[in-house]
Amino acid sequence: MLQKPKGTYDIYGDRALEMLYFRKLVNALMDKYNAKYFETPIFESSELFHRGVGETTDIVSKETYDFKDRGNRDLTLRPEGTAGIVRSFIENKLYAENLPLKAWYLGPMFRYERPQAGRHREFYQFGLEAFGSSDPMMDAEVIGIIVNLFKILGLKGVSVNINTLGDKASRENYRKALLDYFKPYLNDLCEDCQRRYEKNPLRILDCKVDADKDIMKSAPNMIDYLNEESKKHFDKVKEYLDVMGISYKVNSNIVRGLDYYTHTVFEVQADIDGFGSQNTLAAGGRYDHLVEFIGGPSVPGVGFAVGLERLFLALNAENIDIREIVCPDVYMFSTSDEQKPYVLSLSNDLRMAGFNVEIDYNGKSFKSNFKQADKVNAKYIIIIGEEEVNSKVLTVKNNETKEEYKVNLNDLIEFLDEKLGDEHED
Ligand code: ATP
Ligand code: MG
Repeated sequence: MLQKPKGTYDIYGDRALEMLYFRKLVNALMDKYNAKYFETPIFESSELFHRGVGETTDIVSKETYDFKDRGNRDLTLRPEGTAGIVRSFIENKLYAENLPLKAWYLGPMFRYERPQAGRHREFYQFGLEAFGSSDPMMDAEVIGIIVNLFKILGLKGVSVNINTLGDKASRENYRKALLDYFKPYLNDLCEDCQRRYEKNPLRILDCKVDADKDIMKSAPNMIDYLNEESKKHFDKVKEYLDVMGISYKVNSNIVRGLDYYTHTVFEVQADIDGFGSQNTLAAGGRYDHLVEFIGGPSVPGVGFAVGLERLFLALNAENIDIREIVCPDVYMFSTSDEQKPYVLSLSNDLRMAGFNVEIDYNGKSFKSNFKQADKVNAKYIIIIGEEEVNSKVLTVKNNETKEEYKVNLNDLIEFLDEKLGDEHED
């Protein structure tokens, strides 16, 4: 019997629904940031990755699917999303349009890796690239997007780790310091690190094999090699994260796999007991020279990518069903046909105020309305009877805690805002 290729999986049933709901949720979140949706080809010229992203990264040196088509062109299945978006940004001259541009994507990526939980050969990423601002405000906002996404999903066990690689000059200083430092210990490092020493010594710090060795722990720290500019940038990023109430750790071992990063780099980890070692859910950073390097003008950028398989594993570990997140805020019904017009117009107002509302159209009984509210997973129930219409005081019931509130019609939107906001918060 023919089987799917190693490291791939079929999407159907629950997983298909999860993917659909995730896409829907992300779509709504992206609108809030005025981010624009992109789809770029699944395969690109090999050159884009092999020269553009950097030959020294693991992804490009040993993980890409490279092939020739029948016209003898060298092509590569995209291993990540950034390079394709940057190519598109340049080729379509989007830099000449109104910047900043926030571009987002969601689709499959391909890497030849050893398959295991949270690591596949075809996997999905949701990502965003923000072009046209070198201000640390954008770094902070981009990190904030991931934090908000996880908050909306209700994911609790996550931690944000940030670091800076500084600008080109700082990075070069640091590179030299690392070369000097590791030189006497070269033989103690793993084979990959010996290769990294030649090509990109920063990546030695990211090594999973050598991580626990003492020589790694006392290696020079990037922070000590930053020039004033770079220090200022990083301080601002931290200040803005504080302002947004985002907690984070500065972790000097985060250097990221790709060569093109400058200044801020970050990873968001799952901190869930027994989650396993594939615990980086999202990663990204600033890349002020990538657009130029791929052949465009000098336009700064900062972005991230979230791995969906790992995210779904994390949701599972916390017993979160993504299908229940997109559900009505309110289920509303009337006790008799006379109040139907009232239900129709109030539900309309609530929808225009931003709430998801389901109503009863069929004059169902009390009991079947409560059943229906459960079935659609409504968070609040509003019952409209003659008394409510006359007194303009509504009964609003929390469908989970069963708590009841008397709310003035005029205060309803504020009430729901507060209640539903709270739910998203914790
Ligand atoms: P790792 O160190 O785990 O290999 P990476 O540095 O290669 O990750 P990135 O290229 O930054 O990862 O990709 C961003 C995110 O995409 C990762 O944090 C992870 O969630 C996901 N990801 C990367 N490679 C895979 C894979 N082979 N299978 C599933 N998800 C992946
Ligand atoms: Mg990898």
